[in-house]
Formats: sequence, structure tokens, C-alpha cells
Amino acid sequence: MDYYGSQINALIEELSKLPGIGSKSAQRLAFHIINLPKEQAEKLSSTIIEARNKVRYCSCCCTLTDDELCPICKNPARNHKQIMVVENPRDLAAYEKTGRYEGVYHVLHGAISPSRGIGPADIRLKELMTRLAGDVDELIIATNSSLEGEATAMYISKLVKPAGIKLTRIASGVPVGGDLEYIDEVTLLRALEGRVLL
Ligand code: ZN
Repeated sequence: MDYYGSQINALIEELSKLPGIGSKSAQRLAFHIINLPKEQAEKLSSTIIEARNKVRYCSCCCTLTDDELCPICKNPARNHKQIMVVENPRDLAAYEKTGRYEGVYHVLHGAISPSRGIGPADIRLKELMTRLAGDVDELIIATNSSLEGEATAMYISKLVKPAGIKLTRIASGVPVGGDLEYIDEVTLLRALEGRVLL
């Protein structure tokens, strides 16, 4: 692709590393960026850098935030004794959009997947166990209904059961292999309300 010149090629290459961006989209984005007014291009790049530098894991629930504690963990109106375990911050966002869940979350940042070499130590389980040593009424396991999500749910349930905490799993009605973030709010609510005791 020498006909573009090395700067444009470098930009196309970086953009094509982003998820869901093929080489055609990368070219389109690169030319869009190059044609932006300079201030807008600078704003875009500085926003990326600032977000990357400032965003970190909430010290309680491990979701992404730019403070020590995320807004949900900081909120005294939430029920801090009810913890919903989700795989990633997008799943948390999906449940927040329903506006009906009043507990707090724990974000694992992944799911156990032996085939991909992801074990229990690679997700935020240790942090969850630390939280469970405190005052917790219910742990809702809301990992996806994929193979990995189910394996993770089973692992957590074995780990937590001896502690005697009420343990529930969101209802399966959620299509198998479906990512929580793509499921509509009504289905999510139904899954939450129909959760079953483990
Ligand atoms: Zn938090």
C-alpha cells in the first residue's frame, strides 16, 4: 500500500488493530481523521490518551472508572448487600439501562475458558471473595449463557456455597451464547426477576 505514504499507512495499520475494524473501515476512518480540522484531530487523540491514563478499576467492584470508587459503589442509595456478578463493564451498563436493579455489581473482566487458557486466577475472582467476607445478603450470578459463562457460574457457585450466602443465577431465557449487552432490556429484566436459587 505504498501509494498512501507511510504516515497514512501507519494510521490505517493502528486503526485496523481495533476490534471490528477491517482494512476497508480502517482506510475510511484514516481518511476521515486526516480530513478533520486540526483541533478536532488533536481533541480526538488527547481524549484517547487521557481516557487511557485516567481510567482504572474501581477498588470495590472492579468496573472501569476514573475515581477510586465508581459512581455505583459510591451511591448510598444502592443496596450494597446485593452483588451481581457480570463478565464485563458492558454487561453492567446493560443492566443499568433497565433502571430496575438497585444492588451493586462485581465485574470479572472475562470468563473462565480452559480452551483459551483463561483460568480462575485470570479474572477478578479474588476481589469478589474478599468482598464476600463482608456483609452480603445475595450474590446474583449474571455471567453470559455461553459455555464460558456457565463454567464461570458453576465455579463461583462451588466456591461461594460453603460461605452460606444466598446464591442465585439469572434465568435462562437469555439465548445461549448471547452476549448480555445485545439482549433487550425486557429480556434482561425477565432474566433478573426470574433468577433461580442455586
Ligand atoms: Zn465500583
